[in-house]
Amino acid sequence: MDYRVAFRTALENIRSEGRYRVFADLKRHRGAFPRATWTKADGSESDVVVWCSNDYLGQGQNPVVLDAMHRAIEEAGAGSGGTRNISGTTHYHVELERELADLHGKEAALLFTSGYVSNEATLSTLYKILPGLVVFSDALNHNSMISGIRAGKREQRHVFRHNDLAHLEELLAAADPAAPKLIAFESVYSMDGDIADLPAMVALARKYGAMTYLDEVHAVGMYGPRGAGVAERDGVMDQIDIVEGTLGKAFGVMGGYIAADAVIVDAIRSYADGFIFTTSLPPALAAGAAASIRWLKEHDEVRTAHQERAATLKAKMRAAGLPVMDSVSHIVPVLVGDPVHCKMISDILLEDHGIYVQPINFPTVPRGTERLRFTPSPAHTDAMMDALVAALETLWVRCNVARVGGMAA
Ligand code: PLP
Repeated sequence: MDYRVAFRTALENIRSEGRYRVFADLKRHRGAFPRATWTKADGSESDVVVWCSNDYLGQGQNPVVLDAMHRAIEEAGAGSGGTRNISGTTHYHVELERELADLHGKEAALLFTSGYVSNEATLSTLYKILPGLVVFSDALNHNSMISGIRAGKREQRHVFRHNDLAHLEELLAAADPAAPKLIAFESVYSMDGDIADLPAMVALARKYGAMTYLDEVHAVGMYGPRGAGVAERDGVMDQIDIVEGTLGKAFGVMGGYIAADAVIVDAIRSYADGFIFTTSLPPALAAGAAASIRWLKEHDEVRTAHQERAATLKAKMRAAGLPVMDSVSHIVPVLVGDPVHCKMISDILLEDHGIYVQPINFPTVPRGTERLRFTPSPAHTDAMMDALVAALETLWVRCNVARVGGMAA
């Protein structure tokens, strides 16, 4: 058998649907976020403005973070040298876990190599610790949560309609009252930019004796007076049993974590394969993340500026008649509704306008809701926004995408 035929066919299937992914080769300019150099396939270069980074606040360029990382490399070298169990627990890891526990008002925190790993490892491990566990999962939960939840048997997993508390309650009420239960959900949903009703969610959890597992990946650093997330903003941090976050988005570095009661963290530390059997984060990443968290705890004005930038971009786009989707967060999704158009608009923005925003297609979002997802940061200026909106207005006509009010069909 020629195995390559199967691989070629798999790729052709994706290409024929217009969702073959092409990576943009970018080099960010230190200290000049959100500017970057784009290296094209032919080796030539041009400058672009990045509009889709999840380094939401530009912390990956904050000198405080860079200094901490440089210092850690000078002091401790490059890698950590092993798993946490085998010489991979450095002072940097211990300090970062303390910083995270303090951020979320929890007794302890546990680091993983990414947010993805933290979700998958923790959720799958909960079935080992709580025999008969039944998990209730929001329909739009991230792939990493779904992957962890799938470790349970079919009868241990229920999916409730996105943010639909009535449906969740129906499922909770129908479950065995004696079974241990967990509600797994996110605060900010990153593709639509909507936010869960956390007070209502924790009230339901209390009513049915369920634990709560909250993914704050798209909220940590950005919401709440110290940047602990939406649970902090909404005053329910103490009612979330396990909070999960990333160090790779608003904190600007890399890695993931959970924070919870010490006994929960200790049990996950002791049972989770995705924690135990992998080399820990390099000390410099841990040092950079700790510096970033510490700095953001003290700089609420960055969060205010971030929200203002997002509101301004939404207003400018709406004024231009662009179909901005309803988003109550910092995320600005613009509906295209077709994968080929979406990719085409993204390509032309990059080639002709020096604007980088990648197309978001299936399976990241449902078919027919393909979109461009903009993430304005405090460093995106009015002039950048005006240039973006002007380019989109031209392209909306050129690519024949229907606009709000039917101005172009
Ligand atoms: N959870 C959510 C909701 C996400 O959107 C992502 C990544 O985009 C992750 C978890 C994974 O985080 P990380 O990028 O740190 O692996």
